[in-house]
Amino acid sequence: MPDALSPNDGPRVGVGVDVHPLAAGRPLYLAGLLWPGEDGLTGHSDGDVAAHAACDALLSAAGLGDLGANFGTAEPQWAGASGPALLRATATLLAGAGFVVGNVAIQVIGNRPRIGPRRTRRRRCSPRLSAGFRSACQVPPRTDLA
Ligand SMILES: [Zn+2]
Repeated sequence: MPDALSPNDGPRVGVGVDVHPLAAGRPLYLAGLLWPGEDGLTGHSDGDVAAHAACDALLSAAGLGDLGANFGTAEPQWAGASGPALLRATATLLAGAGFVVGNVAIQVIGNRPRIGPRRTRRRRCSPRLSAGFRSACQVPPRTDLA
């Protein structure tokens, strides 16, 4: 794992992008929510790409590697791990290195699921998604793909 950057170096910005193939019949977890009736995503964990992208962005900003380096498939304890569990573990790593998260924004791009109708529930989930973070995650939906 690369050496962590100093939290005293000023505000840090990280970018995380995640893509998983669809897996028919597997439950879909996205942004910490179960989406009944939707096909899920493959993955060693629950395949929550929104949570994974947030973890990667946070770890990148802190210079603490990425999701695979910290919670990879070689570690059986992370098999089936939920997005919120990975975010909590990421928050613990960041806090241990002296970092405080100021903001996390996640952009979900896809035709499904329709995120807008569950906006209220998603916002209620935000504190769970952002456990250990000072401010809430924001998950603006993007469903304008062809
Ligand atoms: Zn992922």
